[in-house]
Amino acid sequence: MMRTLVVAGHGMVGHRMVDALVGRDLQRQWRIVVLAEESRPAYDRVALSSYVDSWDAAQLTLPAVLDDRVELRLGDPCVAINRRKRTVRTASGHRVAYDALVLATGSAPFVPPVPGRDLPGCYVYRTPEDLDAIRAAAQRAMNTTAAGRRSGVVVGGGLLGLEAAHALRQLGLSPHVVEIAPRLMPMQVDEGGGALLRRFIEALGVRVHCGHATQAIEADRGRLLVRIADGTELDTDVVVFSAGVRPRDALARDAGLPVGERGGVLVDNRCRTSDEDIWAIGECAAVEGRCYGLVAPGYAMAEVVADRLLGGNATFPGADMSTKLKLLGVDVASFGDAHGQTKGALEVVHNDPVAGRYAKLVVSDDARTLLGGILVGDAGAYGTLRALVGAELPADPGALLSPSGAELDAGALPAGAQVCSCHAVTVETIGQAVTQQGCTTVPALKECTKAGTGCGSCVPMLKKLLAANGVEQSKALCEHFAYSRAELFEIVAATRIRTFSELVGKHGTGRGCDLCKPAVASILASLSGVLSPGSHILDGEQATLQDTNDHFLANLQRNGTYSVIPRIPGGEITPEKLIVIGEVARDFGLYTKITGGQRIDMFGARVEQLPAIWRRLVDAGFESGHAYGKALRTVKSCVGTDWCRYGVQDSVGMAISLELRYRGLRAPHKLKSAVSGCARECAEARSKDFGVIATETGWNLYVCGNGGFRPRHADLLVSDVDTETLVRTIDRFLMFYVRTADRLQRTAPWLEEMEGGLDHLRDVIVHDSLGICAELDAAIEAHVAGYSDEWRGVLEDPDKLARFTSFVNAPGVPDPTVEFVQERGQPSPAHRRPGQPVLIAGPKLAVVR
Ligand SMILES: Cc1cc2nc3c(=O)[nH]c(=O)nc-3n(C[C@H](O)[C@H](O)[C@H](O)COP(=O)(O)OP(=O)(O)OC[C@H]3O[C@@H](n4cnc5c(N)ncnc54)[C@H](O)[C@@H]3O)c2cc1C
Repeated sequence: MMRTLVVAGHGMVGHRMVDALVGRDLQRQWRIVVLAEESRPAYDRVALSSYVDSWDAAQLTLPAVLDDRVELRLGDPCVAINRRKRTVRTASGHRVAYDALVLATGSAPFVPPVPGRDLPGCYVYRTPEDLDAIRAAAQRAMNTTAAGRRSGVVVGGGLLGLEAAHALRQLGLSPHVVEIAPRLMPMQVDEGGGALLRRFIEALGVRVHCGHATQAIEADRGRLLVRIADGTELDTDVVVFSAGVRPRDALARDAGLPVGERGGVLVDNRCRTSDEDIWAIGECAAVEGRCYGLVAPGYAMAEVVADRLLGGNATFPGADMSTKLKLLGVDVASFGDAHGQTKGALEVVHNDPVAGRYAKLVVSDDARTLLGGILVGDAGAYGTLRALVGAELPADPGALLSPSGAELDAGALPAGAQVCSCHAVTVETIGQAVTQQGCTTVPALKECTKAGTGCGSCVPMLKKLLAANGVEQSKALCEHFAYSRAELFEIVAATRIRTFSELVGKHGTGRGCDLCKPAVASILASLSGVLSPGSHILDGEQATLQDTNDHFLANLQRNGTYSVIPRIPGGEITPEKLIVIGEVARDFGLYTKITGGQRIDMFGARVEQLPAIWRRLVDAGFESGHAYGKALRTVKSCVGTDWCRYGVQDSVGMAISLELRYRGLRAPHKLKSAVSGCARECAEARSKDFGVIATETGWNLYVCGNGGFRPRHADLLVSDVDTETLVRTIDRFLMFYVRTADRLQRTAPWLEEMEGGLDHLRDVIVHDSLGICAELDAAIEAHVAGYSDEWRGVLEDPDKLARFTSFVNAPGVPDPTVEFVQERGQPSPAHRRPGQPVLIAGPKLAVVR
């Protein structure tokens, strides 16, 4: 006769338990009744933040366990256990008898006892409904708060807090993170890693307040005021608590079952409570007193109980608490004993703040065994290193950390090394899936082994292991497109598809992500001259694909204001235009700076001021400088033959004509150029993506150089060519780069990775070895013919203008959190804390409240 298992909770772990039991219960010993509090079946909570991309909760749903032995009762939680009668009662009043009961009730977000935490506008971040509520609040803010003032405060700077901040940013709110510890992600990173992480997070437009508690939240004229212990006050529309979780153990407590010291249903290493018929798994369980806030340990518990219910003798193997941040573009990972708590542990650190890279390995006292580590800025080695924890190091730790040091070969990993800690999948299992089950792609490996279907951080490692097992890998852009960026470019060009939704519908899957959306937006923009002349980057669906900078055609600055950067081709400007810039900056209180790119940047504009500022500039003959876009920035020049006695060609004229020719050309990354009038190289052309140096008889063209993190001198591509040849060669170089580079790949690494290197590049664009030069030429001509100023396009279109002028209740009122001081006679953002001396002269420009 079948016995009845009741599972309380249909979260990720409860679902996993049911799946595991049904799969193994070949003799049909158990029927299963799942009592679920939520109204939807189990979903991928780890991927909750991606809900903001689609607002379609169905995309998070975990595959259903379709079996006649399973009865799922949604929206009817278990409210009491009667251990003597072995029954549970549900909220709707039903009683269900059990032979075994598994508690999988998860956790609840912890909300610290801050006065005001219950005010409207305060939320937690755990379910799609929480995100719906936050979204509704953000939408209210759109209607009631001036554009530059809309903000959200996240209380808690851990992994989830940063995800929540990112979500707020996607909802159009300027996010703040308040963290009581002295650094972000204090559980995962140390001081050195935390300092770099903070820089990355701030560069994403998140304002970080570490080392002080949130003291109070007050209602403030329809908004909220968050007071931090250091005296900072933040006006905000939304507060999101992300300060940890607490196990939901009330059912067990009420039934007289023991709980852990810090809460959680106390279970032994079989996941069994003191009552032999009751088990607890996932975040609600305290295994031998310890709770685990990650999904992998929960899955391991689910497997243990499934095994035990069928007479097995599995025990909880302990947990890998490795984590990797899932935010776009920020690489942070921590694995094993990241804080070096093992006795005698040694730490080897590579800290390069200039290159934006921090890496620490923790090794055993004899430096032979890897114990753990922290990676910030470049977590490429995470998969391999994490799998090596506990194993002998294949090389000297210092060499492993150095960017130019030893490469970790996935093929050299020991068979037992764990690749996917969410599903406890080893290198050996992956190898068998390839060699014995015929898996040749990551999706096939996912399906066969479950690896990569949890947090997803091991997916890059799966690719490496496929390669190590002899399977050639595609350069798929992301899980939504099985094509590289270059292949997608060709698809768009050939099919003339003009929208992301059509492209993903016909040539991809799902609804896209933060990787493929901006990449496709860039491809569509690069091809707009050919596919849709006259279109604008903010037209229709295109607008939603752009990141924040492209969204407002301006660069978001640290203090939430925007920059205004008109194009000044070749750095040449008339006195009249200089006067206009001065007047605009003065009238709008903007900071002005002559930059290395030979133009004049203005900083400190609020979003709703942008149209008025740009109207004055456009009327005076200025146009967008595309400083916000992955596009051509500037073509610098020296003063040339007219004003320098050494000059041999008109470098200024050449710089201007090149800048005007390629302005607005969208590329995989930003592009910079320069023209020097003689070999003295005053314009520094060889540190540019393409640089031109005048010779006695013509021009030399250098390509694929750059400054920045990893400076690289450009290589000479052609020499002593006439003007027409020069321009044609640059045309083809740029279009070939735009067509074939990877997402966010600059020209320097593009060339470094190109098979055949510079010789191949020269063959393609000078000798037309691929027979594509006519196409490249035509594409550039279409770009030149189709160019129009993006800011003028906004000013002429009321719909586009509307996104900049959305304040309702306080028109013209500046963001009180944006404070300026006078510094050297100009407005400058105030970065001081109360009590800290201000080393400046002159009055404040803006009053805080
Ligand atoms: C935004 C976010 C990002 C995350 N990212 C990661 C990550 O990158 N990596 C990682 O490892 N972990 C991550 N986590 C944590 C991970 O989601 C949890 O560890 C995992 O969901 C725990 O699963 P669970 O089944 O134990 O609990 P839950 O998923 O919370 O499920 C418990 C379920 O039980 C229900 N329930 C509660 N009480 C009752 C009752 N009395 N009767 C019936 N049902 C009840 C609840 O409503 C819930 O549906 C993240 C969490 C969040 C919120």
